[in-house]
Amino acid sequence: MANSVKSDEYYMQRALQLAEKGRGYVAPNPLVGCVIVNQEGVIVGEGFHERYGEAHAEVNAVNSVEDSSELLNATVYITLEPCAHQGKTPPCANMLAGLPVKRVVYALGDPNPKVNGKGEQILRDAGKIVSKGVLENEAKLQNEFFLYHITTGKPFITLKIAQTLDGYTAALDGTSQWITGKPAREMVHLWRSQYDAVMIGRNTALEDNPKLTVRHVEGRNPLRIVIDGQFSLPRNLHLFSDQHEEKTIVITHNTSKAREESDPVLSLLDQDYFRGRTVLVGKRESHSDLREAIIKLGKMGISSVLVEAGNNLATALLSQNLVDKLHIFTAPKLLGSGTRSVSHIGIERINEMISLHKVEWNQVGDDMLCTAYL
Ligand SMILES: [Zn+2]
Repeated sequence: MANSVKSDEYYMQRALQLAEKGRGYVAPNPLVGCVIVNQEGVIVGEGFHERYGEAHAEVNAVNSVEDSSELLNATVYITLEPCAHQGKTPPCANMLAGLPVKRVVYALGDPNPKVNGKGEQILRDAGKIVSKGVLENEAKLQNEFFLYHITTGKPFITLKIAQTLDGYTAALDGTSQWITGKPAREMVHLWRSQYDAVMIGRNTALEDNPKLTVRHVEGRNPLRIVIDGQFSLPRNLHLFSDQHEEKTIVITHNTSKAREESDPVLSLLDQDYFRGRTVLVGKRESHSDLREAIIKLGKMGISSVLVEAGNNLATALLSQNLVDKLHIFTAPKLLGSGTRSVSHIGIERINEMISLHKVEWNQVGDDMLCTAYL
C-alpha cells in the first residue's frame, strides 16, 4: 500500500464498511468499526463488533495489529465514541488511553448516558488528540436503530407494504402473496436478516401462513411477532410449529386465555433477554394496544421491527403514529378490487395528508420501491 497519508474521511469510510459486517448480529448494541493507521498513513489494524456480548471493535482492531511498535503515534478511527463503562467487556476508552497512539478520531458521540462524552474525556485526560464528527451523518444512518432505541426505549418501526399499481395489497379472497417480483422478495429477506424482529397481524398469519424466515439470501432469522388479540390463532401455523417456533412472540390482550395456554407467559418483571413468548397488553378500541406492545418490545431489548403488514395492521400503526420509516413496493399489476394497502387513518381533509420525508425511489426488478420517513 502506498504510504501517502489519506484524509480522515477515507479511513472513517473503511471503519463504516467494517461496522456494517456486524449488521443483524450485534443488536441491541450499536454497529461499530475501527481502523488503526500508523504514522506513515498505512492501515495496520482493523476490527468490528461482530456479535452481541463479544469483543468491541476497538479491541478486535488492536488485537489485529501484528507489530505493536506500529501503534506509536498511530491514529485510531472509530465509528462511535469508545465506551467508558464496564459492560460485558472492559471500557475501550481506558484501553486506548493506555496505548502509545497519538490521535483518536470518531464519527459519532455515544448517546448512551453511560458513555456520552465520558469516553472522550478519558482520552483527553490521557493526552490523546481527539477529533469527532467525521462522517457523522453516515454513522447516524448506519446506527439509526440503535440511536432510536437508546434514546426512546422503543424499537425503530419500519412498515413494509407491497401493493399493486392500483393500491391493493390483497385480492378479494384475502390472499396477498406474490404481488411483487423475486428481486423485491429477496430484498425483504435481506431486511429480515437485519431487523431484530418481523411483525405481522392476525389476518396475514391466517391467510398466508408465512414462515418469516430468511431463505432467499444468506443471513440469520429474525424474531417473529404476531398480533393475536384473542389468542386464538391455530397452533399448526408455521409460526408455532416449525423449527424456529421458539423465535415467535405473540402479542395479545386476551390475558386469561394466554395465561391458560402459553408457557411461559412473559411478565415484564421477567427481564431475561428474549425469554418471553407471549406479551400481554391492554385493549384499545377492542384491539390489542399496539403502543403498549411496542414499548414492551423495546424493554425486552428489541431495537428494530420490520412490519410486513396487511391493511389492518398498517392502518392501525399509521393512525396511531407508530411508524418511523416506510418501504412501499408498488408492482406493475392491477387487481381492481380487494383490500387496500391502507384504509382510514383519521384524515378528513387534504391539508392533513401525511407528507413523507427523506424520500427515495428505486426500481427493484419490475417494481418501484419508495423508502421514506414519517
Ligand atoms: Zn467498547
